[in-house]
Amino acid sequence: MNNIFVISGPSGSGKSTLIKMLTKEHDCILFSVSHTTREKREGEIDSEDYYFISRESFRDMIEKELFAEWAEVHDELYGTSINEIETKSAGDSILILDIDVQGAKIIKDKFPDSLHVFIMPPGLVELKKRLLKREKELNNDFRKRLVTAEEEIKIGESGFYDYKITNDNIDKSYNRFKNIFRKYMRSVTIPDKKPPKEH
Ligand code: 5GP
Repeated sequence: MNNIFVISGPSGSGKSTLIKMLTKEHDCILFSVSHTTREKREGEIDSEDYYFISRESFRDMIEKELFAEWAEVHDELYGTSINEIETKSAGDSILILDIDVQGAKIIKDKFPDSLHVFIMPPGLVELKKRLLKREKELNNDFRKRLVTAEEEIKIGESGFYDYKITNDNIDKSYNRFKNIFRKYMRSVTIPDKKPPKEH
């Protein structure tokens, strides 16, 4: 069995913060490092945040069927390699995938036991604010991200995901997120070495 915990949500939903908080508290988590054609941002480390590769290499990997899933997001290609899943999701580990809605659907089909959580921003006004802030930080194309976010939210609301969390308060959202994760951990019978911190 593959222990796979999938998290999706638009840019600005706060999913990266939730994943970081969860990883700090749970030894059993491994993070899936995706391949991408997008440019490395300041502070990102190759092979840790992503495997940054050229479009040509990405196409080559698609042709060789090395991806479990891949998708085009904001005009760039992103994919999870079969190797990441095979080496990191067995035994006492749970593999976390931070991927978009298109990729999540493929993973659900291929791994029906995987658990899928969608992180919803509190509302469009707040999301616009967060995206504008990130645009300055990350040099992102705000409009492109907003359109993608709106499309993702529609799918997030459609009932495909096992759980949805509206992230209007980080502490409350994290508690909910942690409880969902711990329930999944128990269902795949993984003991956690670190005692959970009360949050
Ligand atoms: P960013 O460029 O901000 O790191 O990520 C943009 C989007 O791509 C995010 O929604 C993220 O979840 C998604 N993403 C990252 N890696 C993958 C992947 O391997 N597959 C898919 N389908 N989406 C990914």
